[in-house]
Amino acid sequence: MIIDVCRPRDFLDRTMDRYVRLFPCLSDPARRSSSGLKVALVMLHLVYVGLLFAFDRHLIEEAVTRPWYTASYLLLVVATLIQYFLTSCSSPGYVLDAMRASNEIDIAFRKASKQPASSKNADVVVTIDRNPVGINVQGDLTSWTKMVMDMYPPGTSPRNFTCSYCHVEQPPRTKHCHDCDRCVLQFDHHCVWLGTCIGQGNHCRFWWYIFEETTLCLWTGILFISYLKADIVRAWWNAAIVIMLLITLSIALIFLLLLLLFHSYLVLTNQTTYELVRRRRIFYLRGIPERVFPFSKGVCHNLYDFCCHRSVYQLEPLPSVQALEERSRPYTCSDLLRCRCC
Ligand SMILES: [Zn+2]
Ligand SMILES: [Zn+2]
Repeated sequence: MIIDVCRPRDFLDRTMDRYVRLFPCLSDPARRSSSGLKVALVMLHLVYVGLLFAFDRHLIEEAVTRPWYTASYLLLVVATLIQYFLTSCSSPGYVLDAMRASNEIDIAFRKASKQPASSKNADVVVTIDRNPVGINVQGDLTSWTKMVMDMYPPGTSPRNFTCSYCHVEQPPRTKHCHDCDRCVLQFDHHCVWLGTCIGQGNHCRFWWYIFEETTLCLWTGILFISYLKADIVRAWWNAAIVIMLLITLSIALIFLLLLLLFHSYLVLTNQTTYELVRRRRIFYLRGIPERVFPFSKGVCHNLYDFCCHRSVYQLEPLPSVQALEERSRPYTCSDLLRCRCC
């Protein structure tokens, strides 16, 4: 007679198998841990907002007398959570996707040049310095390799910009992310909280997410302080919980404010966190003085490109020596009058 001993490990494995069968998208351990973090973050929001409404009866009364105030606050909570999920699900701009899009345009361009009547696939999804790929390239020059090579100074060895993991040629400002296992255009950093990379495709969304989260944190903190200051009788544990929540909220607010300021500075100077932190490790930035921002086109242009760039993938070639010299020139009074920084 065989006795089936149900060991806890087997039970766990069976439960996990069932769980993965129900949600096949969570079969990957990395995705699973990222989903766990997302659930934790949503719960954290719900706990703070829920406790605020549970403790502060005045806030519920205010929902009747001043409905717009409570509605605006709740709207901000929902908008922040939506922005969080939109950012975490957005693509940071993978090189392989850009390469595929570029090849599709290339094929469409070749077909169109042979059969002008069927040239309907002319959507520009990859641009280099605002020029559509395929307009200034002809014959064999339309390949991805050639296109990337043209973005570096003549004589640069392809070994310097070929990813040793993906084996693709990386345009300037690209970096391989070991968490995503892919090369990311205009790589900023890999965000553990969002479970995705922050790059060219979602940096703007990321900025808005930090902005909304900072505003929400600040507003929640103000509501908690007003509750503590209100002249009402409350139990000691009630006040202790609110003070504890307020302390954690203040720490989060300081962190978020610093992050928001830091990313605003990066946006205005057209830099990424990776370029700022690892400047000496990036071969094409090594000789450039620290105070020169090689990709900056002026504050207004940088801001416009960041918020309003229309193409999905925008590849930036390295600036010429003349452009770098111009950017490293010290500011004079006439420069300030002409708003050179803008
Ligand atoms: Zn790579
Ligand atoms: Zn990543």
